[in-house]
Amino acid sequence: MYDAFRSKRLAEQRALDAADQEIIAKALEDGVETAWDRFIDQQPQCGFGQLGICCNRCAMGPCRIEPFGKKPDRGVCGATADTIVARNLLDDLSTGAAAHSDHGREVLEVLLETAVGKSQGYQITDETKLKAIAAEYGINTENRKKEEIAEDVARAMLEEYGTLKNRIQMAERAPEKTKDTWKRLGIVPRSVDREIVESMHRIHMGVGADYVNILLHAMRTSLADGWGGSMMATEGSDILFGTPAPLRSRANLATLKQDMVNIVLHGHNPILSEMIVKAADDPQLKERAAGKGAKGINIVGMCCTGNELLMRHGIPIAGTFLDQELAIATGAVEVMVVDYQCIFPSIAQTAACYHTRVVSTSQKAKIPGTTYLEFRPETALDTAREIITVAIDNFPNRNPGRVRIPQKPVDLMAGFSEEAIRKALGGTYKPLIDAIVGGRIRGAVGIVGCNNPKIKQDYGHVTLAKELIKRDILVLETGCAAIACGKAGLLVPEAADLAGDGLGSVCKALGIPPVLHMGSCVDCSRILMLAANIAKELGVGIGDLPIGGAAPEWYSQKAISIGTYFVSSGVYVVLGIPPKIFGSPNVTSLLAAQLTDLVNASFAVEPDPVKAADLLEAEIDRKRKALGI
Ligand code: SF4
Ligand code: SF4
Repeated sequence: MYDAFRSKRLAEQRALDAADQEIIAKALEDGVETAWDRFIDQQPQCGFGQLGICCNRCAMGPCRIEPFGKKPDRGVCGATADTIVARNLLDDLSTGAAAHSDHGREVLEVLLETAVGKSQGYQITDETKLKAIAAEYGINTENRKKEEIAEDVARAMLEEYGTLKNRIQMAERAPEKTKDTWKRLGIVPRSVDREIVESMHRIHMGVGADYVNILLHAMRTSLADGWGGSMMATEGSDILFGTPAPLRSRANLATLKQDMVNIVLHGHNPILSEMIVKAADDPQLKERAAGKGAKGINIVGMCCTGNELLMRHGIPIAGTFLDQELAIATGAVEVMVVDYQCIFPSIAQTAACYHTRVVSTSQKAKIPGTTYLEFRPETALDTAREIITVAIDNFPNRNPGRVRIPQKPVDLMAGFSEEAIRKALGGTYKPLIDAIVGGRIRGAVGIVGCNNPKIKQDYGHVTLAKELIKRDILVLETGCAAIACGKAGLLVPEAADLAGDGLGSVCKALGIPPVLHMGSCVDCSRILMLAANIAKELGVGIGDLPIGGAAPEWYSQKAISIGTYFVSSGVYVVLGIPPKIFGSPNVTSLLAAQLTDLVNASFAVEPDPVKAADLLEAEIDRKRKALGI
């Protein structure tokens, strides 16, 4: 029997945000299974897996290593715990790098098709960025139409995926000292696809057995993502849809509307979500919605595709990774549109509890139980209109008796691209550098990544951000971390009151929040560029800067790649969820300690966000001291 008191208590344990708690309780009342329930069903989770010492790589296995020094201490092939842990980590990291980079490839393919007039509904929006990137690639821009330049730029960037020149142009943006470190370690990325394919080769049985060598390649692969695939995803999206600038919007499940057709855009690639936003402006569709009794069409974002729309258009964002089922459980969603990454395979089962239809769109990500409307650049706008029509026609099927939408959305400010931050500072980083040197801002930390039912939703992100700004440390965010802090009210200029006196005074003078939303997961490349530009202005490497990174609630293989390219670029990273490496003391010690001698940065694991802030503060102080400030 439904126990309201128990549901409320469970909801409070599961999520920090009041709107989320309300809908978690409703989901429990409605008997709708969520990731939190499935997490309980999975307990106890396998200890071998958690330590990273199981291997299912070949048909002689699966094999497991005894973690307490007894037998078996090797797999059937003879692999040790060190080899197995390192190979598993490289496998996960490369999956993440591939996901980011393949997303980037699709953006560039759309850029190319737009340039040659084959796409529908897209245009080249940021000509300044297009020309700046053309210059980086040595592409002539004089007396040429933007489409001609864009064709060459798209081809040059697509070529980076399999280039034979043994270097990626975007990685040249790193400071000289940082690049020298990569050269010394032999981890300069050679091409995007090559590093990922080589990873797959190296983890095959009988190839890599030396954990150090395997992990060095993991670093190189991550750099091919951060300074390659992800960076090109960001830049290509900016050229097509515009480089973000500060704007206002709202967050949480209360962005859904009682009297409107609600469409949730979930997934990652803006090439889909941008077209749906564009199509929703169609007067015929608005009329159709009115004909079905709706007051309009309400588009809201979720996860990183939501971040892309929020950053560029101020489209409200309904929530993070763990909100995908909750949005449906409001009973008010007509359609959830998905492309790929971070979409629960069971999402159609959740939708089946209500009238919601899930529309899948990517031939790479077909999901049983969803309505499949394949999205192609050449018919993008038509498909977007078709999807919206499905949503409008589903509006009358909504059961008002099963609808509950939380009351209050939270205001936020987003749109802090690297270019926008520089502009806010007056076109140069000097004011920021002066504030850091003078100690009003002690440093900066990038908080990134996901939700994970292993930790109360948003608690890690929000607590860590609050702790850091209190200590005069500027926070830069992407991904679900940024959405979490948006829901918690930290992305408004008024949040400067929660910051220390120094950071607070700088934010008030500039009219910016102490926690800056810099975009989606691929936009972690914006954080890299911010760090690179400041380091270049100071004439140092990224590893010399008083900065850090954190992923308090990560779940995704993409986060492993992000964390590793941060560390490989010289940024210390604290993880809130332990990675599956503790079955190998050698791998653990390399990543948590010895890397400092190589790249002046390492990983740490600290589930308590207050203690994580202590670690990050200590690292910032260490680097300030080394800089003599
Ligand atoms: S690769 Fe080695 S450790 Fe892995 S399953 Fe095969 S035999 Fe076992
Ligand atoms: S932050 Fe993590 S959960 Fe959120 S969209 Fe990105 S990868 Fe997915």
